[in-house]
Amino acid sequence: MGAPDILNATPPDPQVGRHVYRQHAHEWLIANLPNHMRANQLDYRTPTLTECRDWELAMYRAGLAGMTWPQVYGGHGLSLREHLAVNKEIGALLMPESVSSIGKELVGPIIMAIGTENQKQKFLPAILRMENYWCQGFSEPDAGSDLARLRTRAVQDGAHWRIDGQKIWTSGAAKANYCLLLTRTGTVADAHRGMLMFAVPMNTPGIRVVPIRSIDNKESFAEVFFDNVIVPDSARLGEPDQGWNTAVRVLSIERATNRMYRPWRFESELRHLVQACQSDRVLSAHLKESYFQRRVGEVLGQIDNLKGLVERTVDTMMAGQEIGTKGSLTKLYWSECHQAFASFALEMTSRVNPSSSPHARRARQAFTAAYLFSRAETIYAGTTEVQLDVIAQRILKLPKELS
Ligand SMILES: Cc1cc2nc3c(=O)[nH]c(=O)nc-3n(C[C@H](O)[C@H](O)[C@H](O)COP(=O)(O)OP(=O)(O)OC[C@H]3O[C@@H](n4cnc5c(N)ncnc54)[C@H](O)[C@@H]3O)c2cc1C
Repeated sequence: MGAPDILNATPPDPQVGRHVYRQHAHEWLIANLPNHMRANQLDYRTPTLTECRDWELAMYRAGLAGMTWPQVYGGHGLSLREHLAVNKEIGALLMPESVSSIGKELVGPIIMAIGTENQKQKFLPAILRMENYWCQGFSEPDAGSDLARLRTRAVQDGAHWRIDGQKIWTSGAAKANYCLLLTRTGTVADAHRGMLMFAVPMNTPGIRVVPIRSIDNKESFAEVFFDNVIVPDSARLGEPDQGWNTAVRVLSIERATNRMYRPWRFESELRHLVQACQSDRVLSAHLKESYFQRRVGEVLGQIDNLKGLVERTVDTMMAGQEIGTKGSLTKLYWSECHQAFASFALEMTSRVNPSSSPHARRARQAFTAAYLFSRAETIYAGTTEVQLDVIAQRILKLPKELS
């Protein structure tokens, strides 16, 4: 792609308002996103990590990443409203998902909230400049939904900590330079107490990454083993005993504000599906059947509801209120809604055969991949059952025996 040209883009003056900002995002993205990175194009091909990094760096330079981060840490010093405005435009194009979303959307906000000044200066600008990838080391073989059972131990030894244990399902571990690692300083019986978070360089001796192949034939997550891993005290994020609260904050961000573009992206996927069907004689006939018309209408309604949830999240946060457990509503809704859509899209495109139109054949590839990945959407960032528990007990305050 023409990286050198687009790397020189200048973001608009933040004072100009979010409508102008959205217009800038719209025009810049359309002008610069290469065709082969648009999932609905015939010449689409899976972009390499380097292509994704260059693309995201160019977006950042154009003012389309780090929107809400303070300028002193490389951000653009804007509000969540501009962040949302840009996300709507990101969702409108079927571009690759960020290869650094853990860094930009989870690690950045947590370091801003609890990191030392040194940690902020060291980590935050490097995330936006795409110099570091992060992974999130929370889940363990015996601690997923119930994170309080985690066993990875951190023991203080003078000015250092020694870490031993195992993480699993760690997305992006193979490419990550740093791990946001949740450890235990006490015993498992301490449950939520005695937990500590670290920023651990992944090249520290004693760390071993073993990739896991998933149903979509990718190795996007891994098991990560920590065997006598020694890190300095400066790798500690927050105070001992603060780890659980920090982890809860990370999960709340993950459920409420991470990838705000989702409903706009789902809408683009639906448009892709419908246009691909219309390009093909057999599929366009199916599309006119009342069964499929009703399914399309249902998906549109769900996307609209999801947009409402995202807009309300932004309003709540702009009013200075915490989202807290309400993030579970958004997580539950987007994952269930997208999984249902992906099943519908697969049902529709399973009618594609070698004599179907090229756009229909491209759509079949895209929606088979989307369907396979959608199976994970009701698991990661907290399973559907766990979200239902949170909603029943913490939002609706139902008694435990009824919930
Ligand atoms: C694609 C993908 C990427 C991931 N990336 C990461 C990552 O980067 N970092 C990381 O730390 N983790 C990651 N995870 C792990 C993810 O967070 C866990 O898989 C998830 O929290 C569920 O934990 P578990 O797999 O141990 O299942 P379990 O907790 O063992 O759950 C098994 C089943 O029991 C149900 N269940 C559990 N508790 C309850 C309850 N109280 N009430 C009702 N039902 C219950 C669950 O809903 C589920 O159906 C990823 C997972 C996936 C699929």
